Amino acid sequence: MINSKNIDNNLKPFKKTLFEIKKYNLSSLEDSQIAAMSQKLKDRAVNGETPQTLMPEAFAIVFEAVKRTLGITPFDVQLVAAAAMASGRIIEMPTGEGKTLAAVFVAYLRALSGEGVHVLTFNDYLAKRDALWMKPVYEFLNISVRYINEGMKIKERKEAYDAEITYVTAKEAGFDYLKNFLAYDTDSIVQRVFHFAVIDEADSILIDEARIPLVIAGDIPSMVEIEKKIFNTVSTLEKEIHFDTDEYADNIFLTEKGVAFVEKDLKLNNLYDEKNIDIQAKINVILQAQFLLKKDVDYIVKNDEILLVDEFTGRIMKNRQWPDGLHAAVELKEGLIPKSRGIVMNTITLQNFLKLYPVICGMTGTACSAAPEFREFYNKSVTVIPPNKPGIRIDQPDVIFTHKAAKFAAIAEEIRRVHATGRPILAGTGSIEESEYLAGMLIADIKDISVLNAKKDEEEAGIISNAGMLSAVTISTNMAGRGVDIHLGGREAIDHAKICALGGLYVIGTNRYESVRIDNQLRGRAGRQGDPGESRFFISLEDNLIVKFRINDVIPDEYKDIKQNRPLQNSAVNKAIVHTQRVVEGQIFDSKLTLSKYSYIADDQRKIVHKKRENILRGIDVLSVFEKTDPDSYRELLNQVSENEYLRAQKEIELFAMNKCWADHLLIIESALDGVQIISMAKGDPFLHYNQKLIEGFEKLENHIQEVILGIYGTLIVKDGHIDLNKMGVKGPSSTRTYLVHDGTELQSSMNEIAVSAVAAPMYTLYMLFTRFMRRDKGET
Ligand code: ADP
Ligand code: MG
Repeated sequence: MINSKNIDNNLKPFKKTLFEIKKYNLSSLEDSQIAAMSQKLKDRAVNGETPQTLMPEAFAIVFEAVKRTLGITPFDVQLVAAAAMASGRIIEMPTGEGKTLAAVFVAYLRALSGEGVHVLTFNDYLAKRDALWMKPVYEFLNISVRYINEGMKIKERKEAYDAEITYVTAKEAGFDYLKNFLAYDTDSIVQRVFHFAVIDEADSILIDEARIPLVIAGDIPSMVEIEKKIFNTVSTLEKEIHFDTDEYADNIFLTEKGVAFVEKDLKLNNLYDEKNIDIQAKINVILQAQFLLKKDVDYIVKNDEILLVDEFTGRIMKNRQWPDGLHAAVELKEGLIPKSRGIVMNTITLQNFLKLYPVICGMTGTACSAAPEFREFYNKSVTVIPPNKPGIRIDQPDVIFTHKAAKFAAIAEEIRRVHATGRPILAGTGSIEESEYLAGMLIADIKDISVLNAKKDEEEAGIISNAGMLSAVTISTNMAGRGVDIHLGGREAIDHAKICALGGLYVIGTNRYESVRIDNQLRGRAGRQGDPGESRFFISLEDNLIVKFRINDVIPDEYKDIKQNRPLQNSAVNKAIVHTQRVVEGQIFDSKLTLSKYSYIADDQRKIVHKKRENILRGIDVLSVFEKTDPDSYRELLNQVSENEYLRAQKEIELFAMNKCWADHLLIIESALDGVQIISMAKGDPFLHYNQKLIEGFEKLENHIQEVILGIYGTLIVKDGHIDLNKMGVKGPSSTRTYLVHDGTELQSSMNEIAVSAVAAPMYTLYMLFTRFMRRDKGET
């Protein structure tokens, strides 16, 4: 898939910028003189000078500010990286090379005009860390910087977005965008018009997570109530007798016996009767909750709540949930009482959200293998920046075992052996369950093991900063993979030389992931900035990746039915694994292309409605449905209320109607997707059909909005010159909740089928549908 035309290794123009920057020598200037230069640059930017012409001077100023405030001298490669990003590139720069600092140059340059720059970070921890870390540089140059974290109030968010530079996760920024759509006054709109974004860990955010729909739901009593009776019936079903899963373990379905059992127990004549569609959907959701979703892998239970675990980062996702029915079913499974849920008010995929920025650029340690996707979906090329000092990390070949037990025994043995020398070790596992399992094996021999997983979110920063200390053993999920800075000997570099002599940090991977990039991220924890380091993956033929994608088929027969404790010495197995990763990445690419094609119209429609609503909110536009259709009643109403009161109510009614009708339109999109599935089976053109449904639905949307508005005027409650909209239920949801519907990098994550039946985010349904089509096309289902 790697195509050299998507990778641009020509660094010449950026080196030229470097040369220009070096012409400035600002070291003899007073601090105040530098600040004055910064102010002049701002004035020039506001007056329309382009970033390109301002760049050399701007970078020179930042260079000097960094030296004076942080006490470090930016490397040439960091300036080259910044120059490449300033021209909208995605840069690949090895982990530990200082991308956080490189971003400051670009952010500063683009912030000069005052239009606001977002630095989109991988998680909340990094948003805060990076903003505070770089703050002295920005302040020195009179540029305001703020960060946003989950849980912050509207006022704080608004202040943060009003700053010249804002550090925030793409998810939080996306949710804030969705919340704007539910605002009833301009004070509740927290974001300014988007201008420029620097995206950290760009492959993760722009590629892996790009398809995740962000959802905002209004707090209205549960629509999909899981009835206890159905739950109890389904819970007694037995695998292989009553239900079965497909070989990927992501599709679950009733067998004939299962259908008969359910029909008898629920007293149904025919489960597949039209009128039982609702029951079918509920059964499906309960089956998934009971038998596919796993505690401590997909979610954890804490304080009587189901907390979702982010597959990419291994962290708990606060206030996030699965679509309506599924969450309730998991609650029942864990013996909790299901809470009330909302209806989906709006949704957007991260990809479509990020496309709202007129210009983006990105940086990551692993961009190259994703270069074709950057080109296809964002029309971006990847530029590779060489390291400041050559990397000397040793990446050992995989060690392969026949079964998991042998693999973990070997890992534990390896950790004990290496730990005895004092060398720091970081083991990256596939799940929380696995990290605890491994820690359990070692605890008798090694007292101080740090286990970094979703349950200990708060402690993460402390644990991370110690992972490079002499004798440290740290076991993490892949959450420690991204953005984490591990210094040999910690921040103070205690015993640095000794640790180097031992070989530096030793990274052990206990699983290969479906994307080579994620494996490489884990390896990249070791050997930062020319430090020594080593990495090795231990795998077994029982690992998920291997079972799921049937690598077993290509494993020579002689290894198939044996269980041995020694590693296998066979290069065919190794090749098969590498090959599988490539095949899986290709499949994901294909399904993304399809998804992209399908999300186009819905995305356009959302943009139109958003704009319209915002204009109404800002008083730039008005629908005036009532005045136009019923002028007599309108005049009558104006006898009872003042013009101002009328305008206030008119605006709120129109805003309300747009929200309500858009939520309904989302359901139309969803049902159009069901149609797609049927049509495709009948060999029609699903795409045409789908587009047609969406266009028809959108044409009706305008009428629908008018109907709703007129309906409200028809039952208007007027008292003492006041129009009481609250009493009429014309108001925004009393509370809203945001969540993301996780699709996972994994093509066949166990949650794949969730949203197809449950009322949920249409884009997610879309994605799942097409991953299935892709598989079918390839004759794999
Ligand atoms: P990356 O995001 O590329 O993985 P970070 O931005 O986290 O790397 O930086 C890694 C480490 O390198 C940090 O501890 C940072 O202080 C250090 N660093 C960055 N730039 C320089 C520099 N020019 N001189 C010295 N240390 C630097
Ligand atoms: Mg980083």
